[in-house]
Amino acid sequence: MKVLKFGGTSVGSSKNINNVINILENTSKNSAVACVVSAVGGITDKLLLAGKKAQNKEADFTDVFNTIKQTHIAIVNELIPENNEAVIAYVETQLSALKNLLDGIFLINELSPKTSDKLVSFGELLSSFIIAETIKSRGLSAERKNSQELVITNANFTKAEVNYKITNKNIQDYFKAASQKITILPGFVSKSVNGEQTTLGRGGSDFTAAIIAAALKVEQLEIWTDVSGMFTTNPKMVKQAYPISEISYQEAMELSHFGAKVLYPPTVQPVLNLEIPIHIKNTLEPNAIGTIISNKATNGANPVKGISNIGNIALLTLEGSGMVGIPGFSKRLFETLSQEKINIILITQASSEHSICLGIEAKDAILAKEAIDATFENEIALNKIEPIVVEEHLSIVALVGDNMKNHQGISGKMFSALGKNNINIRAIAQGASEKNISVVIAETDVKKALNVLHEQFFESKTKQLNVFITGVGNVGERLVEQIKQQRKYLKENLKINLRIAGLSNSRKMIFNDNGLDLKNWKDQLKNGEQASLQGFFEKTKALNLRNSIFVDVTANKDVANLYAHYLRESIAVVACNKIACSSTFSNYKELKRLSLKYNAPFLFETNVGAGLPVIDTLNNLVASGDKIKSIQAVLSGSLNFVFNNFNDTTKFYDVVKQAAAEGYTEPDPRIDLSGVDVARKILILARESGVEMNLEDIKNTSFLSEAGLKSDTVDDFYKTLIDDEAHYQALFASAKAHNCQLKYVAKFDNGNASVSLQEIPVGHPFYNLEGSDNIVMFYTERYPKQPMIIKGAGAGADVTASGLFADIIRLANN
Ligand code: ADP
Ligand code: ASP
Ligand code: MG
Repeated sequence: MKVLKFGGTSVGSSKNINNVINILENTSKNSAVACVVSAVGGITDKLLLAGKKAQNKEADFTDVFNTIKQTHIAIVNELIPENNEAVIAYVETQLSALKNLLDGIFLINELSPKTSDKLVSFGELLSSFIIAETIKSRGLSAERKNSQELVITNANFTKAEVNYKITNKNIQDYFKAASQKITILPGFVSKSVNGEQTTLGRGGSDFTAAIIAAALKVEQLEIWTDVSGMFTTNPKMVKQAYPISEISYQEAMELSHFGAKVLYPPTVQPVLNLEIPIHIKNTLEPNAIGTIISNKATNGANPVKGISNIGNIALLTLEGSGMVGIPGFSKRLFETLSQEKINIILITQASSEHSICLGIEAKDAILAKEAIDATFENEIALNKIEPIVVEEHLSIVALVGDNMKNHQGISGKMFSALGKNNINIRAIAQGASEKNISVVIAETDVKKALNVLHEQFFESKTKQLNVFITGVGNVGERLVEQIKQQRKYLKENLKINLRIAGLSNSRKMIFNDNGLDLKNWKDQLKNGEQASLQGFFEKTKALNLRNSIFVDVTANKDVANLYAHYLRESIAVVACNKIACSSTFSNYKELKRLSLKYNAPFLFETNVGAGLPVIDTLNNLVASGDKIKSIQAVLSGSLNFVFNNFNDTTKFYDVVKQAAAEGYTEPDPRIDLSGVDVARKILILARESGVEMNLEDIKNTSFLSEAGLKSDTVDDFYKTLIDDEAHYQALFASAKAHNCQLKYVAKFDNGNASVSLQEIPVGHPFYNLEGSDNIVMFYTERYPKQPMIIKGAGAGADVTASGLFADIIRLANN
């Protein structure tokens, strides 16, 4: 004898029922089959909905009834297209009994647990009848047996307890006498010893099948559902989840108890002692191997077997100094809850015994609070304990694995992975058996938590980064294109799954929590929603994706002002915008502090030398214990371009105009020519070397003419360049006379910084600097005479974008 159970989706349509019948036909070739079926998918919920509506005197309960009716009639007509009158007639009698019951509920506006059981039983009674008749109509040897005549329970309606003695005998007697090859039985439904209709609890068809398998001592129980086994975590929440091929009874029980709906928790009980393995299979993909639950499951390298979650949890906290001395305190607490039939899902108690925390279903919270407050009325009045505190909108997330007890540091890893992603843990429970570590977190964090933990324990090899880019001008556009081009390489070679989840320019913004399709991102952006800086932040925060990175590719002060907001949400910030790091020292320090506190890196390599690894190198020197003595650098691509092209055959005005035209200067060229931009860069290097400094502390000796310095507008400024050509030619002539080149040099020495135009002699490393190149020389304790030199293109969209890209990839190792 074989026992198979098919769930709601498996019998949810005529097409799926045909799959079921194929499976049954194959299985019954070499063995008799007992087949337990659920109600047609979604019908139990609809029955309850109709019942609730009728109870509330909502006349449209009849609409719900009509859909239930149509669903069943349509399935019969599809499965048995001809000569189906008798079947339809029986189904209609059942449906009219159902309608009478609903009318009754409407009339008395009451839906007791007892009536509710009567109501939901129609689902399985109908599906099992239709399936059995279909099989018979195809000439196979089949009968329907009503499990209500076999499975006998107490009168605990909606979740009755089985009387195994009577039930086992019923099942054994029935199957001993049965001669058909295939027996179809409704799951979930049962009767009390007194003959009242009862049910085994939501999801209970699995349990029915296990009861039959155990009574008949079969070799294996097959649970056929809509996924290919028990997954590492709920596949509807985590795309990367995958089926577990073998798992122990304990682990399966723990996972299902903590929310893995694929198996109804009590299902394991009846088969456990008899060591009957449970095989979970997919009706929609019968060839997938599925999951075997047994006590022979081997433990692979990973001590964590799965992750599950339960929603709608409330946390009750009872606190007070008086708790310590009160004898029998816990006993009274648990007795109170037990009297109210409130199920406790999780308990944690501080070792000081000053507080105790209980996780229960949210629906029981009010009742629990009233009951406990009443029990401890006296102690509360005497201020020995506080009135109970209830927190709602919580969920439990649990790691499960038999072998976790033999491994250290799993809970540490769990908490740090959650912490890094700004997921606040409200309570922690670890069973003494150490098969389970559970945390209570906000409901809104569940999807992120499952993904974070799945990545941590099951995909350690790939890391997902979710990038949100603001500013897709020249540099931003290059960055998007580079990411698009490299995604595949990063995944295959560096195990980084890099996704752009949000994009914005000053007008529009777009988001996709699965990562934007970059094929036609420009068109998508054109049709995006109205952009705003605050809106972009709010949306990024609301998506709540793990390893989120905000990338600022603007030069906008208001964007820089939002970094603190991002960091506080544990969203990393990568910026080529220099404004934040060259603002006041206190602001710079605050951002660094937030970055540390919220474990959200703040990277700005492109603030100095575009894509050249200047800041990263400096950070590595400092981190490894070196001390920066002095820095000398040419840091302005634009000024370098200007002085490389200016001589006695060109005009200063023309050269500056050309630099502007080629995009080497800021729109306002004074920012470059006044030395402010270079001053900002050396300021950032000084600060990264560990020195407290502000922009005013940097000595800036300008080479501009008096009139140039005083000019009010960009146009006025350009005019002074024409008028003061002689002033600039004099600078060139002096350098030429000394056989030198003009370079705009930034220095940091002994805690002092300066920027100025300098005459550089032949042989100096700066002398031959070409085009818009940059150069930085670090003199340190370890590099006292021969400096460490970084040199190369220091401006341009492509190199700046690749500098941003490098910062993003650095985050993968965080
Ligand atoms: P059936 O109607 O066949 O009994 P259920 O809906 O009760 O099916 O259970 C299967 C569903 O359980 C899956 O579709 C999936 O959404 C959910 N589920 C939750 N956690 C897990 C898990 N760890 N592995 C597989 N499925 C899970
Ligand atoms: N039909 C019942 C439910 O939806 C039982 C089951 O499908 O297992 O809960
Ligand atoms: Mg189920």
